[in-house]
Amino acid sequence: MTVPLTKDFVAAVRNAGDIVRLISDYVPLKPGGTRLKGLCPFHHEKTPSFSVDPQLQLFYCFGCQTGGDSFKFVMLYEKLSFAEAVEFLARRWGVPIPRAAPRPENDVRERLLLMNEMSAGHFRAALTDPNRGRAASEYLARRGVGDATAERFSLGYAADSWDEIVRLLAARGFSPAEMQNAGLTVRRKDGNGHYDRFRHRLVFPIRDPAGRVVAFGGRALGDAEPKYLNSPETPTYVKGEHLYGLDVAKDAIRREGFAILVEGYLDLIVLHQAGFENAVASLGTALTPAQVRLLARFAERVVVSYDGDSAGRNAASKTIDLLLERNFEVRVAEIPGGRDPDDYVRQEGAPAYDALVRGASGFLEFLLKKDMSGRDLEQPGEKVGVINALLPRLAHLPNAVERAAWAGKLAEALALDDDLILHELRSALKAARPSIRQRAGGEDPLRDVEARLVAVLLADVAARDHARAVVGSHQLEGSRVAGIVRAILGLPERGGPIPAAEFVDALDDEEDRALLTRIAFRDEPPGGPEAVDGCLEMLNHARWRRESHEVARGVGSEDRDEQTERLRRLMDLGRRMDAPHRAPTLDN
Ligand SMILES: [Zn+2]
Repeated sequence: MTVPLTKDFVAAVRNAGDIVRLISDYVPLKPGGTRLKGLCPFHHEKTPSFSVDPQLQLFYCFGCQTGGDSFKFVMLYEKLSFAEAVEFLARRWGVPIPRAAPRPENDVRERLLLMNEMSAGHFRAALTDPNRGRAASEYLARRGVGDATAERFSLGYAADSWDEIVRLLAARGFSPAEMQNAGLTVRRKDGNGHYDRFRHRLVFPIRDPAGRVVAFGGRALGDAEPKYLNSPETPTYVKGEHLYGLDVAKDAIRREGFAILVEGYLDLIVLHQAGFENAVASLGTALTPAQVRLLARFAERVVVSYDGDSAGRNAASKTIDLLLERNFEVRVAEIPGGRDPDDYVRQEGAPAYDALVRGASGFLEFLLKKDMSGRDLEQPGEKVGVINALLPRLAHLPNAVERAAWAGKLAEALALDDDLILHELRSALKAARPSIRQRAGGEDPLRDVEARLVAVLLADVAARDHARAVVGSHQLEGSRVAGIVRAILGLPERGGPIPAAEFVDALDDEEDRALLTRIAFRDEPPGGPEAVDGCLEMLNHARWRRESHEVARGVGSEDRDEQTERLRRLMDLGRRMDAPHRAPTLDN
């Protein structure tokens, strides 16, 4: 990204286009009153709740509450950063893109990407050469990978040579230091020159979500160690920050609404070939928090599909924790017979694997089975082990009823008394991170009064003048719109209504932007200074109520009997609601 994001440039791009024309490229829109309606591209629906407002130049979905301006739409749909979205729309609307002065670090990066691209092309050509690439193509044939799939993932062959890449890149004017910096070559121990890092290996180019080759993985075709060799860290590649296959999988992930997470390169490639195009791989290492963050840009639901052996199940267990921390909805497709996804698809066929994925169990069912296997549950200590492993995860469930239902299942599976499990669950909840507890308590909905206050302030200059005089800092304490109101009152006054689409840009906070869009689509009636006073009074009351609740909650937590009684009711309810569900079984 080399386009300098000046305010003028962003404004020029914004003013050049029209949100209706833009979104019509993606979603069929039908007129409906002053707005246009269509099926939301961001959640699955049958009746349109997605609307676009030509006046506001904003979109909003009443179903999933996604909304924003043209930039936001492109960011979400095309999975771009803000800067990339501006550039994307500049091209779409034909706004001339200012050229940035080249910065040295960009130059290094660009040259490195160029070296990767050239090397990938070279490896690819070697693989498709019937003589040179024979060992690699025979290996792929044995693994059942077809030519089209190899092409799709740009698989290649690094020849059994010390200097093919060295010579290739030298001929294109790259220095030995640059090649080494790209991780493509290794400096000789005696300091005399360089040699190719990847030799006699099947090569998997690792690409970022935009499809640029940032690194390589290579599988040995002979006895060389290690069996899998990756590029070292470079200016384009930080270990644990990329997901293999994401560039190819991102559209399918959006279409399917979930991602299948596997461990290995070949698992991923074979799954894609079998039609599971929403699979991504953690590059053969344990999943990292950075990879989870990256995945969160594309999916909220994940089916973990690791090897069925005990190493795979242990890795899945760690992966589940990482995904839960990021609020993913996690299921586990367990592969029978200790096989890996690659073997399973080739031996049993795509429909069998599809059934595994569709019938994937909830993460707790998986963990319960895993933790109970191999234990002698007649030993009291063993039961404690299972409880200790599971309860912290139980605390991750967002919903109290579900949590209590699971506490009940656990009690049954271990033949323990409900009270004992409840006691332990309480401690686990206490230890859970505050964000989980907050989520468990349900989120604070946007109150009507808050939306009204913002709408009135945006629409009316007299209301703003009045608010500047009367709104004190404490009045908006704890309110979700505090940041928005402060931003409105802080704008240089130009008189007249403030256009919401323009104002969205003045907000730094992502949540504030989303909130503002929701408010803009509420069609609040106009109001003046008296409306501001009315809103502030109601906000005061809301604040007092909140405070008294907090006090009451503090007292309540000392009364354990009452708490136990409440949890017990939830447990019974949860069991009844859960009845048609598969219950975890004791016999494995
Ligand atoms: Zn939606």
